[in-house]
Amino acid sequence: MEELTIDAIEALFRQQMTEWGTSRDNYAKLSQVKVREFTVHGSRVVVQCNPERLRSSAARVDKAAIAHRECFLCTANRPVEQRGIEWGDYTVIVNPYPIFPKHFTIPTRKHTAQRIVSRIGDMRRLALLLEGCTIFYNGPCCGASAPDHCHFQAGVKGFMPIEAEIASAAMSEVAREGSDARLSTAQVHGCNVMVVDAATVDGGCKLFDRLYRALPQCNDREEPMMNVLCWSTGEHRATVVVIPRRKHRPDCYYSEGEGKLLISPASVDLGGVVIASRKEDFERITAEDIAAIFSEVCITDAEIAGIIDNIKDKNYKLR
Ligand SMILES: [Zn+2]
Repeated sequence: MEELTIDAIEALFRQQMTEWGTSRDNYAKLSQVKVREFTVHGSRVVVQCNPERLRSSAARVDKAAIAHRECFLCTANRPVEQRGIEWGDYTVIVNPYPIFPKHFTIPTRKHTAQRIVSRIGDMRRLALLLEGCTIFYNGPCCGASAPDHCHFQAGVKGFMPIEAEIASAAMSEVAREGSDARLSTAQVHGCNVMVVDAATVDGGCKLFDRLYRALPQCNDREEPMMNVLCWSTGEHRATVVVIPRRKHRPDCYYSEGEGKLLISPASVDLGGVVIASRKEDFERITAEDIAAIFSEVCITDAEIAGIIDNIKDKNYKLR
């Protein structure tokens, strides 16, 4: 098995650009896409006009639609030109419909549901191995267009404003694990987030588990709604940002006529790069629209206070 390193995925990327036309064409198109910059709650947010992402932002992810399509992450259904690097249960492949100048998808080899709880350690390990990348996870009702096939994605670090924002954000500590793992709360461009900063996989996973159990459960959902982003911040050290969600898509996504904005927020959007797949939305969207969408899909101040109470209550979920 090939070793998973940043050099190996760079080589994979170059190879795919040479041998896989669809992918090469889409990366060439991406280099031409228009962007607009906004300030939202004092932070930089970029809007990217990316028509190729319509398949993802407008994807039907209800059970009936999923049951009637072939899973595009299963090996048997992938284009013949698509190559990958195997790592544990996963394969790293080039995403042919990119947002990032280098964008990878990391599906499991087995067709199994999108769930984070037992895989957060893998996510941290991936971030440490692929130091130049940010790894991200979209929950089954929070932007994943394949909620039935477990996968992470990876994009080059420094592309989303969130990494720099977290580095300078005012953190409020909620819990600790040992001497070198900390769980805090913070705000990034108006979104309430939880941050696990840890120097060991074990410490980081324990704090993530405590957070996971404290998140609001949704009746009809298989896991608490969330997006997760993770990147390394030094040898063995990784930051995990959990963005708890209360809504899959904002109301403007469904409205007809003038008020419509086809924006379906996932990790990258909430990381500060909002994807507009329709030109009219790209041209019309304002900083106020972005702030309203973020606050509609992310959790409120009262909800985050409730989560913090749950985390601090040692008997929570043991009763
Ligand atoms: Zn599959």
